[in-house]
Amino acid sequence: MTLIIDNRTRFFNDYYFQTMCLMYYPGERFPPAGDDNANTAFFLLEEVSTENGRHYNARVRLEAGIKHSEAVFSSEGYTPVIEQVDEFLACIAVGKAFLLAGRELFGFSLPWGYITGLRPVKRAKNYLERGYDEDSVRSFFTDDFGVSPQKAALSVSTARREIDMLSGVKGNLCALYVSIPFCPTRCGYCSFVSYSNERLFRLIPDYLVKLKEDIKRTAAIIKELNFSLGAIYIGGGTPSILDCLQLDDLLGEIQRSFDFGGLSEYTFEAGRPDTVTHEKLTVIKSHGVDRISINPQSTNDAVLKRIGRCHTSSQFFTAAETAKKVGFTCINGDLIAGLPDDNEESFARSLSDVISLGFENITVHTLSIKNAAELRFDPEKLYDPVGETAKNCVSFAYDKLTKEEYNPYYLYRQKKTVGNAENTGYAKEGYENLYNVLMMEEYSTVFACGAGSITKIVSPDRENIERIAYPKYPFEYLEQSIGIGEDIIRRFFSKHT
Ligand code: SF4
Repeated sequence: MTLIIDNRTRFFNDYYFQTMCLMYYPGERFPPAGDDNANTAFFLLEEVSTENGRHYNARVRLEAGIKHSEAVFSSEGYTPVIEQVDEFLACIAVGKAFLLAGRELFGFSLPWGYITGLRPVKRAKNYLERGYDEDSVRSFFTDDFGVSPQKAALSVSTARREIDMLSGVKGNLCALYVSIPFCPTRCGYCSFVSYSNERLFRLIPDYLVKLKEDIKRTAAIIKELNFSLGAIYIGGGTPSILDCLQLDDLLGEIQRSFDFGGLSEYTFEAGRPDTVTHEKLTVIKSHGVDRISINPQSTNDAVLKRIGRCHTSSQFFTAAETAKKVGFTCINGDLIAGLPDDNEESFARSLSDVISLGFENITVHTLSIKNAAELRFDPEKLYDPVGETAKNCVSFAYDKLTKEEYNPYYLYRQKKTVGNAENTGYAKEGYENLYNVLMMEEYSTVFACGAGSITKIVSPDRENIERIAYPKYPFEYLEQSIGIGEDIIRRFFSKHT
């Protein structure tokens, strides 16, 4: 797509408009202007001063092949639900003109309106904390941003739960993420930098040696800065790819290095059911892990095969039963809406299967394919922004899970998601995962260890956030010296305390 912007105000940059366009034109790469075959999006925004004050006129034209549409919107006479500032009036004018033009050209509405951010709940939370009531915040989403009533309700109820969860979090609480970036095989839709071949599996022993060193250094920094470790998350990749001895070794190091006195949860992402055994789960549990994630994505075997998941639904059921027998108090299962060859009926069966296993925590993702994914299916179909099936599945999950007393407690969006839908974590009362909320809301510092991980340091007033990314690939991680981010962390906290 060639994006032409005639922007006559001081507020927006091209990136903002590009992000909006991706919701109607997913997968577009924005080639340089002049590409005759490209679709075009044209934005014009002008600032007008009248006797009644300043207002904004927006005109948006969108093209798709030989078809096009154009819409105008003026902020004159429009009263926003909450914010009245100039920048927001300009944002409303552009956003509404964009939605009108998109609806006319493509024939469908965007469930999240023109909200481009990946964390819409942060916005809802912010206004609730500032004292606005839930009705006003819902109207703010629906009226000012064009968000569907269901997504507005989802945002507000998720925000309310996050506020409750975070109310007891102390200022010096931090979390720890440990990365195991290896997987038994690579799923077709995966964009994560994970390793899945025999040659690279030989790196695992060296990787673990380095990781343990990293863990010890991180524990020392946490102690030095007077943090209290509240949550641990071992993720990947597929951490359960490690054998019993490796698990014992790694988790033993974590137990020796950190003070578990303030720890409220310890999660291990077993992920792929084909890696789960009774022996491994017993080792994991023996080191204080109380939460485990076992992810079917679907319980339809034909769908699992299609997405290259390399395990069956029966392996998932066995792994889930094993986790229960071993005694984990909280089990999470991930499902994905919008998978190729899946449909509403099959998704509903997958959801019922996970509910009937008594999982306390269910996360419903929507398929999102990044450029790095090894696509084995029709990308056009996957990037489908209408994504009727995915949207129906996500809506169904919301209705069904809330009826079954699972509450939405964290939510995020991704780019290039089928149907522009979201990812939502649901949990039974008291089983919400604090780590997920701290991470998503950027509420507390999260220290990370291992390749592909990111330490996120958050100032006590939460006004400043800095990220320290560790090398993506295990072999780069092995080459790098440990403790490279420590000076940044020390400087940050000496400045922001
Ligand atoms: S298990 Fe997860 S991280 Fe590993 S290949 Fe599959 S989607 Fe990617």
